[in-house]
Amino acid sequence: MRIVAVVRRELRLHDNPLFQDADRHEIIPLFVLDDSSPPEANTNLASLLFFALAQLGRSIADLGGHLYCVSQAQQEAFFSLARPDLVRFCDDVDPRARDRNVALAHLLDRLGIRHQLQGDHTLTPMPAEPFRTFARFYKRHFLPSLERGVPTYPTPRRIVTPALPVAEAALPSVTTPASKTWLRTEKEVLGMWEGFVVRRLEDYAASADIPAADATSRMSPYVRCGLISLRRMLRDTRGVSAAFVRSLARHDYFAQLFGHFPWTAERALDESWWHFPWRRDSEAVARWQEGETGFPLVDAGMRQLRQEGWMDQRIRMVVASFLTRDLLVDWRQGEQFFAHQLVDADPAQNIGNWQWVTGCGGPDSVHYFRVLNPLVQAQRFDPDGIYTRRYLPELQSIPTTALTRPDRLRQAAPGYPRPIVDLAAARRTFIETARREIRRAKAA
Ligand SMILES: Cc1cc2nc3c(=O)[nH]c(=O)nc-3n(C[C@H](O)[C@H](O)[C@H](O)COP(=O)(O)OP(=O)(O)OC[C@H]3O[C@@H](n4cnc5c(N)ncnc54)[C@H](O)[C@@H]3O)c2cc1C
Repeated sequence: MRIVAVVRRELRLHDNPLFQDADRHEIIPLFVLDDSSPPEANTNLASLLFFALAQLGRSIADLGGHLYCVSQAQQEAFFSLARPDLVRFCDDVDPRARDRNVALAHLLDRLGIRHQLQGDHTLTPMPAEPFRTFARFYKRHFLPSLERGVPTYPTPRRIVTPALPVAEAALPSVTTPASKTWLRTEKEVLGMWEGFVVRRLEDYAASADIPAADATSRMSPYVRCGLISLRRMLRDTRGVSAAFVRSLARHDYFAQLFGHFPWTAERALDESWWHFPWRRDSEAVARWQEGETGFPLVDAGMRQLRQEGWMDQRIRMVVASFLTRDLLVDWRQGEQFFAHQLVDADPAQNIGNWQWVTGCGGPDSVHYFRVLNPLVQAQRFDPDGIYTRRYLPELQSIPTTALTRPDRLRQAAPGYPRPIVDLAAARRTFIETARREIRRAKAA
Protein backbone atom coordinates (compact mmCIF):
# COMPACT_ATOMS: atom_id res chain seq x y z
CA MET A 1 0.00 0.00 0.00
CA ARG A 2 1.13 3.56 -0.67
CA ILE A 3 0.33 6.13 2.01
CA VAL A 4 0.84 9.88 1.92
CA ALA A 5 1.51 11.24 5.43
CA VAL A 6 0.70 14.96 5.46
CA VAL A 7 2.78 16.51 8.24
CA ARG A 8 1.85 19.90 9.64
CA ARG A 9 2.81 20.20 13.26
CA GLU A 10 3.57 16.55 14.07
CA LEU A 11 7.28 17.01 13.43
CA ARG A 12 8.74 13.83 14.93
CA LEU A 13 9.26 10.15 14.23
CA HIS A 14 8.41 8.66 17.63
CA ASP A 15 4.83 7.81 18.52
CA ASN A 16 3.49 9.47 15.40
CA PRO A 17 0.21 8.15 13.94
CA LEU A 18 1.24 9.44 10.51
CA PHE A 19 4.12 6.95 10.37
CA GLN A 20 2.36 4.05 12.04
CA ASP A 21 2.68 1.69 9.04
CA ALA A 22 6.10 2.76 7.83
CA ASP A 23 7.63 -0.67 8.36
CA ARG A 24 5.00 -2.36 6.19
CA HIS A 25 4.02 0.14 3.50
CA GLU A 26 5.41 2.80 1.19
CA ILE A 27 5.18 6.16 2.93
CA ILE A 28 5.29 9.53 1.22
CA PRO A 29 5.84 12.20 3.88
CA LEU A 30 4.50 15.50 2.57
CA PHE A 31 4.63 19.07 3.80
CA VAL A 32 2.40 21.51 1.92
CA LEU A 33 3.68 25.04 2.01
CA ASP A 34 0.69 27.28 2.56
CA ASP A 35 1.65 30.22 0.38
CA SER A 36 -1.95 31.43 0.07
CA SER A 37 -2.15 32.82 3.61
CA PRO A 38 -0.02 35.67 4.99
CA PRO A 39 3.40 34.68 6.34
CA GLU A 40 3.51 33.55 9.97
CA ALA A 41 3.36 36.72 12.08
CA ASN A 42 5.06 34.94 14.95
CA THR A 43 8.61 34.53 13.69
CA ASN A 44 9.76 32.89 16.95
CA LEU A 45 7.33 30.05 16.44
CA ALA A 46 8.00 29.93 12.69
CA SER A 47 11.69 29.54 13.50
CA LEU A 48 10.97 26.50 15.69
CA LEU A 49 8.55 24.93 13.25
CA PHE A 50 10.83 25.25 10.24
CA PHE A 51 13.85 24.05 12.19
CA ALA A 52 11.90 20.98 13.34
CA LEU A 53 10.64 20.40 9.82
CA ALA A 54 14.17 20.44 8.39
CA GLN A 55 15.30 18.04 11.13
CA LEU A 56 12.42 15.73 10.37
CA GLY A 57 13.43 15.76 6.70
CA ARG A 58 16.94 14.65 7.75
CA SER A 59 15.65 11.93 10.07
CA ILE A 60 13.37 10.59 7.32
CA ALA A 61 16.32 10.58 4.90
CA ASP A 62 18.42 8.68 7.47
CA LEU A 63 15.76 5.96 7.41
CA GLY A 64 15.86 5.81 3.62
CA GLY A 65 12.80 7.96 2.87
CA HIS A 66 12.17 11.47 1.62
CA LEU A 67 10.07 14.37 2.90
CA TYR A 68 8.45 16.15 -0.03
CA CYS A 69 7.71 19.85 0.26
CA VAL A 70 5.31 21.28 -2.34
CA SER A 71 3.47 24.56 -2.60
CA GLN A 72 -0.28 24.72 -2.02
CA ALA A 73 -0.76 25.37 -5.73
CA GLN A 74 1.02 22.08 -6.54
CA GLN A 75 -0.92 19.97 -4.07
CA GLU A 76 -3.50 18.57 -6.48
CA ALA A 77 -0.89 17.74 -9.11
CA PHE A 78 1.15 16.02 -6.42
CA PHE A 79 -1.68 13.70 -5.37
CA SER A 80 -2.58 12.96 -8.99
CA LEU A 81 1.00 11.95 -9.62
CA ALA A 82 1.61 10.04 -6.37
CA ARG A 83 -1.69 8.11 -6.67
CA PRO A 84 -1.71 6.98 -3.04
CA ASP A 85 -4.10 4.36 -1.64
CA LEU A 86 -4.53 6.42 1.50
CA VAL A 87 -3.76 9.91 2.78
CA ARG A 88 -3.37 10.54 6.50
CA PHE A 89 -3.45 13.89 8.24
CA CYS A 90 -4.13 15.08 11.78
CA ASP A 91 -7.13 16.75 13.32
CA ASP A 92 -6.63 20.25 14.70
CA VAL A 93 -8.99 22.59 16.55
CA ASP A 94 -7.35 25.73 15.14
CA PRO A 95 -9.95 27.09 12.66
CA ARG A 96 -7.31 27.82 10.01
CA ALA A 97 -5.97 24.28 10.21
CA ARG A 98 -9.51 22.90 10.25
CA ASP A 99 -10.36 24.78 7.07
CA ARG A 100 -7.21 23.38 5.49
CA ASN A 101 -8.25 19.86 6.49
CA VAL A 102 -11.75 20.30 5.11
CA ALA A 103 -10.35 21.61 1.81
CA LEU A 104 -7.90 18.70 1.63
CA ALA A 105 -10.66 16.17 2.32
CA HIS A 106 -12.77 17.70 -0.50
CA LEU A 107 -9.86 17.57 -2.91
CA LEU A 108 -9.14 13.93 -2.09
CA ASP A 109 -12.82 13.02 -2.43
CA ARG A 110 -12.83 14.62 -5.83
CA LEU A 111 -9.72 12.66 -6.82
CA GLY A 112 -11.24 9.47 -5.41
CA ILE A 113 -8.46 8.99 -2.85
CA ARG A 114 -9.24 7.48 0.54
CA HIS A 115 -8.25 9.62 3.54
CA GLN A 116 -8.07 9.23 7.29
CA LEU A 117 -8.03 11.85 10.03
CA GLN A 118 -5.75 11.02 12.95
CA GLY A 119 -5.79 12.34 16.51
CA ASP A 120 -2.45 13.61 17.76
CA HIS A 121 -2.77 17.09 19.24
CA THR A 122 -4.71 16.01 22.31
CA LEU A 123 -4.62 12.97 24.56
CA THR A 124 -8.34 12.42 24.53
CA PRO A 125 -10.89 12.62 21.70
CA MET A 126 -13.03 15.70 21.34
CA PRO A 127 -16.09 15.26 23.59
CA ALA A 128 -19.43 15.41 21.78
CA GLU A 129 -20.61 18.17 24.13
CA PRO A 130 -18.33 20.90 25.48
CA PHE A 131 -17.21 20.93 29.12
CA ARG A 132 -17.17 24.46 30.49
CA THR A 133 -15.47 23.63 33.77
CA PHE A 134 -12.13 21.91 34.11
CA ALA A 135 -13.24 19.79 37.07
CA ARG A 136 -16.10 18.22 35.14
CA PHE A 137 -13.96 17.79 32.03
CA TYR A 138 -11.28 16.04 34.07
CA LYS A 139 -13.62 13.71 35.92
CA ARG A 140 -16.21 12.97 33.25
CA HIS A 141 -14.12 12.97 30.10
CA PHE A 142 -10.35 13.02 30.60
CA LEU A 143 -9.89 10.26 33.18
CA PRO A 144 -12.53 7.91 31.67
CA SER A 145 -10.92 8.37 28.21
CA LEU A 146 -7.52 7.42 29.63
CA GLU A 147 -9.08 4.33 31.17
CA ARG A 148 -10.31 3.30 27.74
CA GLY A 149 -6.69 3.36 26.58
CA VAL A 150 -4.26 5.68 24.84
CA PRO A 151 -2.60 4.27 21.72
CA THR A 152 1.15 4.05 21.11
CA TYR A 153 2.63 4.09 17.62
CA PRO A 154 5.95 2.41 16.85
CA THR A 155 8.92 4.53 15.81
CA PRO A 156 9.65 3.57 12.19
CA ARG A 157 12.85 1.64 11.59
CA ARG A 158 12.85 2.38 7.87
CA ILE A 159 10.86 4.56 5.50
CA VAL A 160 10.42 3.60 1.87
CA THR A 161 9.39 6.57 -0.28
CA PRO A 162 8.97 6.27 -4.05
CA ALA A 163 10.81 8.80 -6.21
CA LEU A 164 8.33 11.22 -7.79
CA PRO A 165 9.13 13.67 -10.58
CA VAL A 166 7.67 16.74 -8.83
CA ALA A 167 8.85 20.31 -8.56
CA GLU A 168 9.69 20.65 -4.90
CA ALA A 169 9.57 23.89 -2.96
CA ALA A 170 12.50 24.76 -0.71
CA LEU A 171 11.81 24.28 2.99
CA PRO A 172 11.40 27.73 4.48
CA SER A 173 13.78 28.88 7.15
CA VAL A 174 13.91 31.79 9.61
CA THR A 175 15.84 32.21 12.84
CA THR A 176 15.11 34.81 15.48
CA PRO A 177 17.35 35.65 18.46
CA ALA A 178 14.60 34.70 20.95
CA SER A 179 14.04 31.27 19.45
CA LYS A 180 17.70 30.24 19.33
CA THR A 181 17.85 28.58 22.74
CA TRP A 182 14.80 26.48 21.86
CA LEU A 183 16.05 24.97 18.61
CA ARG A 184 16.48 21.28 19.36
CA THR A 185 16.35 18.03 17.46
CA GLU A 186 13.83 15.34 18.36
CA LYS A 187 16.59 13.37 20.09
CA GLU A 188 17.63 16.39 22.14
CA VAL A 189 14.02 17.12 23.11
CA LEU A 190 13.54 13.53 24.28
CA GLY A 191 16.79 13.77 26.25
CA MET A 192 15.58 16.98 27.88
CA TRP A 193 12.25 15.34 28.68
CA GLU A 194 13.90 12.26 30.20
CA GLY A 195 16.10 14.53 32.34
CA PHE A 196 12.98 16.27 33.63
CA VAL A 197 11.27 12.97 34.45
CA VAL A 198 14.28 11.64 36.35
CA ARG A 199 15.28 14.81 38.18
CA ARG A 200 12.24 17.06 38.51
CA LEU A 201 8.98 15.23 38.16
CA GLU A 202 8.59 14.18 41.79
CA ASP A 203 8.94 17.80 42.95
CA TYR A 204 6.66 19.17 40.27
CA ALA A 205 3.60 19.73 42.47
CA ALA A 206 5.64 21.52 45.13
CA SER A 207 7.87 23.65 42.90
CA ALA A 208 6.05 24.36 39.63
CA ASP A 209 4.90 27.77 40.86
CA ILE A 210 8.41 29.00 41.72
CA PRO A 211 9.84 30.46 38.50
CA ALA A 212 13.43 30.56 39.80
CA ALA A 213 13.31 26.81 40.47
CA ASP A 214 12.99 26.01 36.74
CA ALA A 215 10.82 23.15 37.94
CA THR A 216 8.51 22.66 34.97
CA SER A 217 9.21 20.58 31.90
CA ARG A 218 9.51 23.47 29.36
CA MET A 219 8.00 21.12 26.83
CA SER A 220 5.24 23.48 25.62
CA PRO A 221 7.18 24.70 22.52
CA TYR A 222 7.81 21.08 21.57
CA VAL A 223 4.22 20.08 22.21
CA ARG A 224 3.29 22.94 19.87
CA CYS A 225 5.55 21.62 17.08
CA GLY A 226 4.80 17.99 17.80
CA LEU A 227 8.47 17.31 18.56
CA ILE A 228 7.31 15.35 21.59
CA SER A 229 4.25 13.16 21.85
CA LEU A 230 1.67 14.02 24.51
CA ARG A 231 1.01 10.30 24.85
CA ARG A 232 4.66 9.71 25.67
CA MET A 233 4.50 12.48 28.29
CA LEU A 234 1.44 10.89 29.81
CA ARG A 235 2.95 7.40 29.90
CA ASP A 236 6.07 8.63 31.69
CA THR A 237 4.22 10.65 34.32
CA ARG A 238 1.00 8.76 35.06
CA GLY A 239 1.23 7.17 38.46
CA VAL A 240 4.17 9.40 39.44
CA SER A 241 2.76 12.94 39.45
CA ALA A 242 -0.99 13.53 39.48
CA ALA A 243 -0.26 17.27 39.30
CA PHE A 244 1.62 16.87 36.03
CA VAL A 245 -1.16 14.77 34.52
CA ARG A 246 -3.60 17.53 35.48
CA SER A 247 -1.42 20.01 33.59
CA LEU A 248 -1.63 17.79 30.52
CA ALA A 249 -5.38 17.62 31.03
CA ARG A 250 -5.57 21.44 31.00
CA HIS A 251 -4.12 21.39 27.52
CA ASP A 252 -6.93 19.02 26.38
CA TYR A 253 -9.53 21.04 28.28
CA PHE A 254 -8.67 24.28 26.45
CA ALA A 255 -8.45 22.43 23.13
CA GLN A 256 -12.00 21.09 23.50
CA LEU A 257 -13.30 24.52 24.58
CA PHE A 258 -11.81 26.15 21.50
CA GLY A 259 -12.93 23.27 19.28
CA HIS A 260 -16.53 23.79 20.38
CA PHE A 261 -16.38 27.59 20.63
CA PRO A 262 -13.98 28.84 17.93
CA TRP A 263 -15.67 32.27 18.11
CA THR A 264 -13.92 32.79 21.48
CA ALA A 265 -10.98 33.99 19.39
CA GLU A 266 -12.94 37.24 19.18
CA ARG A 267 -15.35 37.22 22.10
CA ALA A 268 -15.36 36.13 25.72
CA LEU A 269 -16.95 32.76 26.42
CA ASP A 270 -18.96 34.45 29.18
CA GLU A 271 -21.23 36.95 27.49
CA SER A 272 -21.51 39.14 30.61
CA TRP A 273 -18.12 40.46 29.50
CA TRP A 274 -19.05 41.40 25.96
CA HIS A 275 -19.61 45.05 26.80
CA PHE A 276 -16.92 45.45 29.43
CA PRO A 277 -15.62 49.03 29.19
CA TRP A 278 -11.95 48.25 28.58
CA ARG A 279 -9.60 51.23 28.63
CA ARG A 280 -7.76 52.34 25.53
CA ASP A 281 -4.28 53.27 26.67
CA SER A 282 -1.60 52.66 24.10
CA GLU A 283 1.10 54.15 26.32
CA ALA A 284 0.32 51.71 29.17
CA VAL A 285 0.18 48.79 26.72
CA ALA A 286 3.57 49.78 25.29
CA ARG A 287 5.10 49.93 28.78
CA TRP A 288 3.64 46.53 29.60
CA GLN A 289 5.03 45.09 26.37
CA GLU A 290 8.47 46.58 27.00
CA GLY A 291 8.61 45.44 30.63
CA GLU A 292 8.66 48.98 31.99
CA THR A 293 5.62 49.08 34.24
CA GLY A 294 7.59 49.79 37.43
CA PHE A 295 6.51 46.44 38.94
CA PRO A 296 9.62 44.25 38.90
CA LEU A 297 7.94 40.83 38.64
CA VAL A 298 5.74 41.98 35.75
CA ASP A 299 8.69 43.63 34.02
CA ALA A 300 10.90 40.56 34.47
CA GLY A 301 8.19 38.38 32.90
CA MET A 302 7.70 40.64 29.91
CA ARG A 303 11.44 40.94 29.34
CA GLN A 304 11.76 37.16 29.50
CA LEU A 305 9.01 36.95 26.89
CA ARG A 306 10.91 39.32 24.61
CA GLN A 307 14.27 37.63 25.16
CA GLU A 308 13.23 33.99 25.14
CA GLY A 309 9.73 33.88 23.68
CA TRP A 310 8.55 32.00 26.76
CA MET A 311 7.43 32.35 30.39
CA ASP A 312 6.22 29.84 32.89
CA GLN A 313 2.61 29.56 33.94
CA ARG A 314 2.76 31.59 37.17
CA ILE A 315 4.44 34.55 35.48
CA ARG A 316 2.04 34.41 32.54
CA MET A 317 -0.80 34.66 35.06
CA VAL A 318 0.80 37.63 36.82
CA VAL A 319 1.44 39.65 33.65
CA ALA A 320 -1.95 38.79 32.14
CA SER A 321 -3.80 39.70 35.32
CA PHE A 322 -1.83 42.94 35.54
CA LEU A 323 -2.78 43.97 32.00
CA THR A 324 -6.47 43.16 32.24
CA ARG A 325 -7.27 43.80 35.90
CA ASP A 326 -4.83 46.53 36.94
CA LEU A 327 -4.53 48.38 33.63
CA LEU A 328 -8.07 47.45 32.53
CA VAL A 329 -6.84 46.69 29.03
CA ASP A 330 -8.81 44.31 26.82
CA TRP A 331 -7.55 40.70 27.13
CA ARG A 332 -7.47 40.50 23.32
CA GLN A 333 -4.58 42.97 23.20
CA GLY A 334 -2.55 40.79 25.55
CA GLU A 335 -3.55 37.61 23.79
CA GLN A 336 -2.45 39.05 20.44
CA PHE A 337 0.90 40.14 21.82
CA PHE A 338 1.51 36.66 23.25
CA ALA A 339 0.37 35.12 19.97
CA HIS A 340 3.12 37.06 18.18
CA GLN A 341 5.89 36.38 20.69
CA LEU A 342 5.51 32.95 22.29
CA VAL A 343 7.51 30.02 20.95
CA ASP A 344 4.60 27.85 22.11
CA ALA A 345 1.82 30.15 20.81
CA ASP A 346 -1.28 28.07 20.27
CA PRO A 347 -4.67 29.75 19.79
CA ALA A 348 -6.64 27.24 21.88
CA GLN A 349 -4.22 27.44 24.83
CA ASN A 350 -3.55 31.15 24.57
CA ILE A 351 -7.16 32.29 24.20
CA GLY A 352 -8.44 29.88 26.84
CA ASN A 353 -5.81 30.89 29.37
CA TRP A 354 -6.21 34.63 28.72
CA GLN A 355 -9.94 34.42 29.23
CA TRP A 356 -9.45 32.28 32.31
CA VAL A 357 -7.07 34.80 33.94
CA THR A 358 -9.22 37.77 32.93
CA GLY A 359 -12.30 36.12 34.41
CA CYS A 360 -14.34 36.00 31.21
CA GLY A 361 -13.74 32.38 30.18
CA GLY A 362 -16.84 30.89 31.78
CA PRO A 363 -17.60 29.45 35.21
CA ASP A 364 -14.08 28.17 35.80
CA SER A 365 -12.30 31.48 35.36
CA VAL A 366 -10.43 33.24 38.13
CA HIS A 367 -13.11 35.10 40.11
CA TYR A 368 -13.09 38.86 39.61
CA PHE A 369 -12.52 39.34 43.35
CA ARG A 370 -9.17 37.58 43.15
CA VAL A 371 -7.03 40.31 41.61
CA LEU A 372 -3.41 39.12 41.73
CA ASN A 373 -1.24 41.77 43.34
CA PRO A 374 2.15 41.63 41.54
CA LEU A 375 4.00 42.72 44.69
CA VAL A 376 2.40 40.00 46.82
CA GLN A 377 2.94 37.48 44.03
CA ALA A 378 6.64 38.37 44.03
CA GLN A 379 6.85 37.89 47.81
CA ARG A 380 5.20 34.48 47.54
CA PHE A 381 6.70 33.05 44.39
CA ASP A 382 10.03 34.86 44.02
CA PRO A 383 10.87 35.65 47.66
CA ASP A 384 14.61 36.08 47.06
CA GLY A 385 14.14 37.98 43.82
CA ILE A 386 16.24 35.43 41.92
CA TYR A 387 13.89 35.22 38.93
CA THR A 388 13.27 38.97 38.86
CA ARG A 389 16.97 39.85 38.91
CA ARG A 390 17.68 37.33 36.15
CA TYR A 391 15.78 39.55 33.70
CA LEU A 392 16.28 42.99 35.27
CA PRO A 393 20.04 43.50 35.47
CA GLU A 394 19.48 47.10 36.60
CA LEU A 395 18.06 45.74 39.88
CA GLN A 396 20.94 43.32 40.43
CA SER A 397 22.38 44.87 43.54
CA ILE A 398 19.40 46.37 45.34
CA PRO A 399 18.05 44.82 48.58
CA THR A 400 15.42 42.13 48.01
CA THR A 401 12.80 43.96 50.07
CA ALA A 402 12.96 46.88 47.61
CA LEU A 403 11.67 44.59 44.85
CA THR A 404 8.27 44.45 46.50
CA ARG A 405 8.16 47.90 48.13
CA PRO A 406 7.73 50.71 45.57
CA ASP A 407 8.85 53.40 48.09
CA ARG A 408 12.13 51.57 48.76
CA LEU A 409 12.57 50.73 45.11
CA ARG A 410 12.47 54.43 44.23
CA GLN A 411 15.36 55.10 46.62
CA ALA A 412 17.37 51.99 45.77
CA ALA A 413 17.01 52.28 41.98
CA PRO A 414 16.13 55.87 41.06
CA GLY A 415 16.49 55.19 37.31
CA TYR A 416 13.95 52.34 37.32
CA PRO A 417 10.46 53.29 36.00
CA ARG A 418 7.89 54.51 38.51
CA PRO A 419 4.79 52.29 38.93
CA ILE A 420 2.36 53.11 36.11
CA VAL A 421 -0.72 52.40 38.19
CA ASP A 422 -1.98 52.65 41.76
CA LEU A 423 -2.73 49.00 42.53
CA ALA A 424 -5.33 49.60 45.25
CA ALA A 425 -7.37 52.03 43.15
CA ALA A 426 -7.09 49.82 40.06
CA ARG A 427 -8.26 46.78 42.01
CA ARG A 428 -11.33 48.67 43.25
CA THR A 429 -12.19 49.92 39.78
CA PHE A 430 -11.86 46.46 38.26
CA ILE A 431 -13.99 44.75 40.89
CA GLU A 432 -16.71 47.42 40.76
CA THR A 433 -16.82 47.36 36.96
CA ALA A 434 -16.88 43.57 36.74
CA ARG A 435 -19.62 43.35 39.38
CA ARG A 436 -21.72 45.95 37.60
CA GLU A 437 -21.30 44.32 34.18
CA ILE A 438 -22.19 40.87 35.47
CA ARG A 439 -25.30 42.20 37.25
CA ARG A 440 -26.35 44.08 34.16
CA ALA A 441 -25.93 41.02 31.98
CA LYS A 442 -27.95 38.88 34.42
CA ALA A 443 -30.75 41.46 34.52
CA ALA A 444 -30.93 41.75 30.73
C1 LIG B 1 -2.09 34.09 29.74
C2 LIG B 1 -1.59 32.72 29.38
C3 LIG B 1 -1.33 32.38 28.07
C4 LIG B 1 -0.89 31.11 27.72
N1 LIG B 1 -0.61 30.81 26.41
C5 LIG B 1 -0.21 29.56 26.06
C6 LIG B 1 0.08 29.21 24.70
O1 LIG B 1 -0.09 30.01 23.76
N2 LIG B 1 0.52 27.94 24.44
C7 LIG B 1 0.67 27.01 25.44
O2 LIG B 1 1.09 25.88 25.14
N3 LIG B 1 0.41 27.30 26.71
C8 LIG B 1 -0.03 28.53 27.07
N4 LIG B 1 -0.28 28.83 28.38
C9 LIG B 1 -0.28 27.73 29.37
C10 LIG B 1 1.00 27.53 30.16
O3 LIG B 1 1.49 28.71 30.70
C11 LIG B 1 2.11 26.85 29.37
O4 LIG B 1 1.63 25.74 28.66
C12 LIG B 1 3.18 26.36 30.33
O5 LIG B 1 3.70 27.44 31.06
C13 LIG B 1 4.25 25.65 29.59
O6 LIG B 1 5.35 25.38 30.43
P1 LIG B 1 5.84 23.90 30.64
O7 LIG B 1 5.91 23.18 29.35
O8 LIG B 1 7.09 23.98 31.45
O9 LIG B 1 4.63 23.32 31.47
P2 LIG B 1 4.55 22.13 32.51
O10 LIG B 1 4.14 22.72 33.80
O11 LIG B 1 5.77 21.29 32.49
O12 LIG B 1 3.28 21.31 31.99
C14 LIG B 1 3.40 20.26 31.02
C15 LIG B 1 2.51 20.54 29.83
O13 LIG B 1 1.16 20.67 30.27
C16 LIG B 1 0.50 21.65 29.48
N5 LIG B 1 0.05 22.75 30.35
C17 LIG B 1 0.52 23.10 31.56
N6 LIG B 1 -0.20 24.13 32.06
C18 LIG B 1 -1.11 24.45 31.14
C19 LIG B 1 -2.15 25.42 31.06
N7 LIG B 1 -2.40 26.29 32.03
N8 LIG B 1 -2.90 25.46 29.95
C20 LIG B 1 -2.70 24.59 28.94
N9 LIG B 1 -1.75 23.65 28.96
C21 LIG B 1 -0.97 23.56 30.04
C22 LIG B 1 1.51 22.17 28.47
O14 LIG B 1 1.37 21.44 27.27
C23 LIG B 1 2.83 21.85 29.14
O15 LIG B 1 3.90 21.72 28.24
C24 LIG B 1 -0.72 30.12 28.74
C25 LIG B 1 -0.99 30.47 30.07
C26 LIG B 1 -1.42 31.75 30.39
C27 LIG B 1 -1.71 32.07 31.83
